[in-house]
Amino acid sequence: MSHATSTRSPGLLVIFCGLITTTISLVIVTLLAGTDFNVIGWYWLFVIPLGAILVGLASGTGYYFASKWTNSKIVGVFVWLILLISITAYVISHFISYRMFVNTEEFTFIQYIQAYAEGLSFEKSGSNGEYGDPLGKLGYFFLLLEGLGVSIGSIYPVASLWTQAYCDRCNFYLKKQRTGFISSDETTADLRKKKKPEKEDILVGAINSSIMRTGQLFEENEATPYETIQSAIGHLDQSQKKKALANVTVELFKCPACDTHQIKATLINQTTGGSPATSELAKLIKPS
Ligand SMILES: [Zn+2]
Repeated sequence: MSHATSTRSPGLLVIFCGLITTTISLVIVTLLAGTDFNVIGWYWLFVIPLGAILVGLASGTGYYFASKWTNSKIVGVFVWLILLISITAYVISHFISYRMFVNTEEFTFIQYIQAYAEGLSFEKSGSNGEYGDPLGKLGYFFLLLEGLGVSIGSIYPVASLWTQAYCDRCNFYLKKQRTGFISSDETTADLRKKKKPEKEDILVGAINSSIMRTGQLFEENEATPYETIQSAIGHLDQSQKKKALANVTVELFKCPACDTHQIKATLINQTTGGSPATSELAKLIKPS
């Protein structure tokens, strides 16, 4: 077992992998744009640049997998670097379109961007490729939205790694070992034919009892060795009771090289509103 003294930050390999997925994504987008299939132009509710975010997500997968594979800890500087690369790549992709599809002797790149932004228009819904009036100056806002979408999308995959527990001593992401469930005794059947205030009381009772049992598990295992908590989680329900009003998922993560581990509890509960709510209850990391 070797114990590195400094944290492993993402290195050239990670950046290289990110550059590859970024290049592939933007090349595909540019080629598709040449066939009038404009992925970047997909919007949800008119202002959410869904297409741009998707392109960003695809670009960011390289950083994610390479960081995970090399167990590189995500640091702030690295996220800023990805942001910088993705914005640069987005501008370059416009430049490539300019070189590919425009008579460069007649238009400069800046003129091309101006024409692109001011000429943006929305496809009329229900129509077959029929476009509304050009957006004019408003087009710059959408150009900015697209750039933002690509950037946010490309950071997202590594940002999700940021929340994963990491052993600073061994330079490893902790791996999930075990999952158990703490479910309330109250089920959806208990809510049937009840009035709203009564329903709320039953729900609150179910949530509170699950939270209390989770708290107890955490308290009991605050100072226990890894094997004890592993067996404790092994003794919880091993599958979720689908009809329970409140379900706590207890997950155990461990460093592959030492006993450093993390217990994480997430509550999913029914609501009177209809859709279930998820909330993180507790997270406990115990260095070995
Ligand atoms: Zn470790």
